[in-house]
Order: sequence, then C-alpha cells, then structure tokens
Amino acid sequence: MNPVGVPQGTGWIEVVVGCMFSGKTEELIRRLRRAQFARQRVVVFKPALDRRYSADHVDSHSGQKIASFVVEGPGELLRLAGDAQVIGIDEGQFFGPDLVSVCEQLANDGRRVIVAGLDQDYLGRPFDPMPQLLAVAEYITKNLAICMRCGNPADRSQRVVNRDARFLVGETDAYEARCRRCWNPSSFEPVQEPLPLGVNLAEERR
Ligand code: ZN
Repeated sequence: MNPVGVPQGTGWIEVVVGCMFSGKTEELIRRLRRAQFARQRVVVFKPALDRRYSADHVDSHSGQKIASFVVEGPGELLRLAGDAQVIGIDEGQFFGPDLVSVCEQLANDGRRVIVAGLDQDYLGRPFDPMPQLLAVAEYITKNLAICMRCGNPADRSQRVVNRDARFLVGETDAYEARCRRCWNPSSFEPVQEPLPLGVNLAEERR
C-alpha cells in the first residue's frame, strides 16, 4: 500500500525495509520522484557515513539518484527539513535510536516521512532503529531480493568476506542476497555457481 498526495491535517510515516539488493533505495527514489512531479516540496537525507558513489545524492545500485543532504544525526533533520512536505531518509539503520522520535515529530507536524533501510544485519539481527520505526509507521513495505544461490525470494544479507564490522559501508561486493535456506551467517563463502532453475531442493539437500 503506497499512499499518494499531500497529508491533509496530518502526516504519516512510511518505511521501506529489506536486505541488500532488494531495491529499497530505488523504491524510496521512486516515491520521492512522484512527489516532485506533483510539485510537492521534497527534501532527502542520508547519513554521513554512507559515502558511496557521491556525497550529496542518494543513489541506488541501479544508478538512479536524487539530491540529498548528508547529515551527522537525526537532530539535523529537524533543522534542515524547513517547510518540506515530503521527507525522504535513506540508510535509516545508521541514524541511531533518536531517528524514531524525530520521524514521529515530523509526521505529527504534518509531513510525509519515508524511511528506507536494512531491517537485519548480516547476522540476521534486527537492525535498530528500523524495528522501532516499523512499529510506529503507518505504511510498511518489505522488499525481497532474489537469492543469488537458488533464486527463491531472499530477505537476508549474506556476508561473503570475514570481517567483524556490523555493516561494510559501500562494499556491495561483500554481500549476497540469500533466502532463509541458503543464508549462513557462519560461512563467508560466495556463490560459485547459482543452482540451475527448477532444481529439486529436497534432492539437493541429501
Ligand atoms: Zn536460496
């Protein structure tokens, strides 16, 4: 469910979550573009630690981009939001716990707030503050990727390099999208050959 239009007397929060390669940022950009076409005032933010591709744009892996502010924390959002009617936030998982109250404040103030982010880290743990944001959002979209090993719907980010950081910023080569069955947080083996389409999964397990 994807609402359109300017809030009438109230705002709301939309959250787009998913694993790596699920098209979260593309979806965020699509919603923001539609608002721009309707001449709504749109402002976009991304966290300072996400320096991939360009410093002042939100970019999807597919090459779409939209101008954005790079901010250090949620407090800056309130200051820079100005009179924007629609507020986009990418990589919400990097903003820390205060993002929730800031989004609530913006929505209470009559804005449409759209946040994209990872809902799980590479160990499958809920990635704060996205779960808290999901709880208070009016509209939730969970995007699935395609498992790079077997082609099933995928909601996990498989890390394929053995490093400890919770997230490897800008290193998309360090991840693969995997389904529940093919995801293994204790292995860092990349897919060598994808399973052929139509493979009998029960056979393959033996
Ligand atoms: Zn799979």
